[in-house]
Amino acid sequence: MVPDQFSLAGRVALVTGSARGIGWGIAQSVAAAGGHVVINDLDEATVAGRAQELRAAGLSASHAAFDITDEAAVEAAIARIAASVGPVDILVNNAGIQRRKLFHEFSYAEWRAVIDTHLNGAFLVTRAVVPGMMERRFGRIVMIGSIAVQQPKQAISAYAAAKGAVNSLVRALAAELGPHGITANAIAPGFIATEFTSALQADEAFTASMLTRVPSGRWGQPSDLAPAVVYLASSAGAFVNGSTLTVDGGFLAAG
Ligand code: NDP
Repeated sequence: MVPDQFSLAGRVALVTGSARGIGWGIAQSVAAAGGHVVINDLDEATVAGRAQELRAAGLSASHAAFDITDEAAVEAAIARIAASVGPVDILVNNAGIQRRKLFHEFSYAEWRAVIDTHLNGAFLVTRAVVPGMMERRFGRIVMIGSIAVQQPKQAISAYAAAKGAVNSLVRALAAELGPHGITANAIAPGFIATEFTSALQADEAFTASMLTRVPSGRWGQPSDLAPAVVYLASSAGAFVNGSTLTVDGGFLAAG
């Protein structure tokens, strides 16, 4: 039983990149909190299967496969979602990619792919849902940022730059959209065990050294982050706007 303050009943939530990893964890929590979750990712069959999994568990879910960097596809998908299950009340911009390369070895295409997904993709999807949120005077936008903004490592310059832009974007959106009843916040995960970090998890030396810097002493799981999204999206989080909430097991604090 979810306390009323954290209930998402009656809300439609779109979670981008939610076929696996952190997005899937968020989708499960949002649905468990009573929201209708729309699973997005690139592959139609995969998102359809995930939505079916949630429905089989008695939760409310549908799917929309589209590429968040494709302007026409985004516009069409948001219109389809509004027509089928209702306008998006909660948007979680989670979809992401990583390209690990030294800065001077990035091709322009590789650099742009990272910026396109994290920043321009978030722009496209957010722009498509904001007019409806303004009309209804309610909206919750949550972007998945990263501790790479404060603690970038070697070979992730495009990613760190894109996530830094995402943090600035939520502050700008908070200022602009707050008067319309819309909040915009970011969550900055620490090291979370997903496919995204599979190479790092397989690197025992990296894991051993990273874990000495995580006071919680373990890799994070998607389920560590997902409740933070529910909080920000629910009435409990109504007065939180323009913030970045770090969920990293204490990594940044321990420096
Ligand atoms: P995963 O790689 O496990 O999942 C990312 C998902 O996004 C994939 O399902 C992927 O689909 C999808 N995706 C990628 N590009 C697009 C696109 N253009 N349109 C639609 N979907 C797309 O990553 P995580 O779950 O670990 O990461 C989720 C978010 O959290 C990302 O923004 C990441 O930067 C951030 N993050 C992750 C951390 C971690 O330690 N894991 C730490 C800090 C931040 P496909 O499989 O088809 O490519």
